[in-house]
Amino acid sequence: MRADISRQAVLGWLKEEGKRVASLFSEADGARVEHVGDEVHLRGLIEVSNHCRRQCHYCGIRAGRRTERYRMTESEVMECVRLAVKLEYGTAVLQAGEDPGITAAFVTDLVRRIKAETPLAVTLSLGERKLAELEEWRAAGADRYLLKHETSDDELFQRIHPVCGDEELHRLELLKRIKAMGYETGSGVMVGIPGQTYESLADDLFLFRELDLEMIGCGPFVPHPETPLGVMGNREWGMGKEQVPNTDTMTLKVVALARLLCPLANIPSTTALATINREKGRELGLLSGANVWMPNLTPQKYRVLYEVYPGKAKAPDTAEVFHEELVATLAALGRRPGKGPGGAKKQAKAEVKS
Ligand code: SAM
Repeated sequence: MRADISRQAVLGWLKEEGKRVASLFSEADGARVEHVGDEVHLRGLIEVSNHCRRQCHYCGIRAGRRTERYRMTESEVMECVRLAVKLEYGTAVLQAGEDPGITAAFVTDLVRRIKAETPLAVTLSLGERKLAELEEWRAAGADRYLLKHETSDDELFQRIHPVCGDEELHRLELLKRIKAMGYETGSGVMVGIPGQTYESLADDLFLFRELDLEMIGCGPFVPHPETPLGVMGNREWGMGKEQVPNTDTMTLKVVALARLLCPLANIPSTTALATINREKGRELGLLSGANVWMPNLTPQKYRVLYEVYPGKAKAPDTAEVFHEELVATLAALGRRPGKGPGGAKKQAKAEVKS
């Protein structure tokens, strides 16, 4: 199976509803052990701003939604960064809505400071920013950029992600340019977007491989009641049998297939998965091919306002308390926190299949 898995087989697994699916999860777990090992890389997530100029139909921080907005200061971000160092995480992930108030200069200064003052890798996830800004941040030392393409179905993407009008490139072209700038590049999808078909989800999986992504994030679509997609009833989704469900099992199948198609990628067990299956979502992700966990280091007063969907996994008392639970969870799974920045493993050129 592995990297030469056929499209027909991928579609078969996506539609598989029987007990047989357990063998997909264990095969993906085996590929994870073989290619990226037992370390689980910890990336400290810092939600820098919930301002956003976009009106994505799925997202709770979309422009125009009435909610309190915040933007962290440099010293607040650096406090979170120091916590990441204290907890021995390898990476700081700076994420925000697409916020022009997060200026190029602000990000450049932050990246320089983090690289000068800590051993952390820096991942940026700030939306579709200008090429010149992306170049500047890369030159300042940013290591990685995350930009989920959400769905490779262009018509669906345009419907749920209205354009602002000043985009320089199509999102997929932008991802290619980001990669060419030398960033480790991450993308991914929401699973079960209203209107998403099995065929388009299979396209997404093969696109991960084609884009040669270093990071692949797959989480379920979680309806937010104050968004256009969140208020649509299931019937209005209107796709009958071809509608991909936004369930934990479907998400786990996508994670597992991503691992088989892209064996060396860093793949998180996402917060969205842990949100729809609070008991076991995180663990099940780690047992189905995932090797990354992104603990949230955003101060509580801001975290509650970064409400992209409701009930974003359980909020702990403090990041330190959460960390203790995390280490215990990993130990129970026979896994251990990764050491160092946890960058992408590269396949020896000769082994790469075309
Ligand atoms: N603005 C940046 C961007 O769009 O890439 C980063 C922030 S955005 C809030 C981060 C991710 O949240 C998106 O890529 C999307 O996959 C996820 N997201 C937003 N709304 C969601 C929802 N209702 N259910 C699941 N994931 C959601």
